Amino acid sequence: MIAPHHDDFPEGSVWLVGAGPGDPELLTRKAERLIASASVIFHDALVGPEVLALAPRRSRKVYVGKRSGRHSKEQKAIDALIVEAALAGERVVRLKGGDPSIFGRSTEELDACRAAGVAVRVCPGVTAASAAAAGLGASLTLRGLARKLTFVTAHARAGEELVLDWERLADPEATLAVYMGKAAAGQVSARLIEAGLPATTPVALVENASLPQERTFHTQLSLLPLAARTALGDGPALLLIGEALRQSEAPAVSLAAQRGTSLQEL
Ligand code: SAH
Repeated sequence: MIAPHHDDFPEGSVWLVGAGPGDPELLTRKAERLIASASVIFHDALVGPEVLALAPRRSRKVYVGKRSGRHSKEQKAIDALIVEAALAGERVVRLKGGDPSIFGRSTEELDACRAAGVAVRVCPGVTAASAAAAGLGASLTLRGLARKLTFVTAHARAGEELVLDWERLADPEATLAVYMGKAAAGQVSARLIEAGLPATTPVALVENASLPQERTFHTQLSLLPLAARTALGDGPALLLIGEALRQSEAPAVSLAAQRGTSLQEL
């Protein structure tokens, strides 16, 4: 088969590429091709070695991960590195965990490229919430019960209070996917209950979604702080809140009936 010819990645251009949640098989084919064509890759902490291994051996891989409590100064330095590399004639991939358009600071990088006259495009990726739902074997929406899906970050700047519109978030018909929410789990639980969401609302925690170290945990809103403290390690974790996360419990009777059926079949 003749490989398709692509002319969407000329020298001196930039792609912001979604690396997905961790499992390299969850990269899109486009992401894989762009990574394989890059001369330099700027990547985050959440992009694993198996994904980076797809880059050409001779390409430069530059770690630009930021600590939690990210400073806009650090972001400006990243923007400058990307633009500088493109202006030097490199094929630049800016590789970001999950999807670049979700809590990925991609606007700053797009603006910096455009301001410098550098061609820049975006390749989407599988976001953590999708991978977490897959890990749970659950759906984020539920016909009639969870008609809305809200992506929210519970990350507050160091030393600052987390400011969110809790009244609007406490919607019993919505599923909340809380990114960067581990540290704020106590506040998330207390504020949502205060705003009227039942304490018994189902919650699922998923750490390292899609990776071999993936861990899932089910609890309820009032116990979320305890669960976040005790059940999670130090990997990236997502909090999913809402009726859609209620665990389907197979009634004992139907399990027995199934067993009965298969025994009879034997
Ligand atoms: N752009 C990314 C999100 C970046 S914010 C995306 O679309 O997924 C970083 C947060 O994403 C983490 O703090 C965590 O809440 C979540 N996250 C990223 N990867 C994850 C994973 N593999 N498992 C669980 N949560 C993850």
